[in-house]
Amino acid sequence: MPDKTLSSTLQKRETLSIIIPCYNEEDVIDLCHQEVTKVADTLPYHIELIYVNDGSKDTTLEKLCAIREADKRVVVINLSRNFGKEAAMTAGIDHVTGDALIILDADLQDPPELIPDLIIKWKETDADVVYGQRTTRIGETWFKKITAKSFYHIINFIANRVEIPKNTGDFRLMNKRSIDALRQLRESHRFMKGLFAWIGYKQVAMPYCRAPRAAGSTKWNYAGLLNLAMEGIAGFSTVPLKIASFFGLLISFFSFLFGIFIIFKTMIVGVEVPGWSTLTVMIAFLSGLQLLSIGILGEYVGRIFGEAKKRPLYFIEHIYK
Ligand code: UDP
Ligand code: MG
Repeated sequence: MPDKTLSSTLQKRETLSIIIPCYNEEDVIDLCHQEVTKVADTLPYHIELIYVNDGSKDTTLEKLCAIREADKRVVVINLSRNFGKEAAMTAGIDHVTGDALIILDADLQDPPELIPDLIIKWKETDADVVYGQRTTRIGETWFKKITAKSFYHIINFIANRVEIPKNTGDFRLMNKRSIDALRQLRESHRFMKGLFAWIGYKQVAMPYCRAPRAAGSTKWNYAGLLNLAMEGIAGFSTVPLKIASFFGLLISFFSFLFGIFIIFKTMIVGVEVPGWSTLTVMIAFLSGLQLLSIGILGEYVGRIFGEAKKRPLYFIEHIYK
């Protein structure tokens, strides 16, 4: 029984904050609250339940307010529009008052029953972060599995010193020190998996089986996932820039060799079509150099543009507490 182990491992009156970002989750939010409180009630903890309504266009906010009326442990942060899950989580993380936090998806894909296991692992290993690591991906297509796997290979191959754990989402427990560290990372390009890993400290994995969505539908499509992958790669590595430089140099080098070859050929065999060879070599050489320069500039300018605006990560319409 987890309760018994928990009671002996936890100090009383510590506060555990649970953050749940919600976007158009009217179908599942009541069930979610029911499941989460079922588990939370067994914990020897003071519980703070933070729902972040990320600009839902359905009745999620109304449902959350009703939940809030019935349960005073609930805080509802209503964002001014849809900012995306990363910003919604950040809003939650900025407002937690607990000694530790746990992030859950509203669709019950991260099973609330595993909260006690996260806490036990945290207390046992004395880790700063315990992250859920998916052992299986039920209900996902082979295409999604393969693309996800390749993504982790690529990003860990090129990410600069930061090891991003495989098959890990946002489902995790973080202690006070890691929460404080994460709060200091205010960049607007937020690749959370990367940021979670970037802060360092002792992070341990807790393997779990990721369930299919309880109800409603995913907010992700392949374009969104591709964008997320690009965000991760560009935000945590400068290797794409180096690839642009590498190809630029490669093209320039071969154009140079080609140029020498044309000179000798002309000296030996004579001119075939006047001007043709010089033009081709020049065009190829300059294209290589241009690719190199535009690649480097574009990536840097894009990132600087995003960050230089220094916009807040989200706006809050109201906090119901
Ligand atoms: N979510 C959010 N804002 C968004 C998109 C999603 O707060 O713009 C929330 C959503 O309500 C859910 C969690 O993020 O609680 C995960 O979303 P989803 O289930 O669509 O992602 P998936 O599980 O398919 O990766
Ligand atoms: Mg989901």
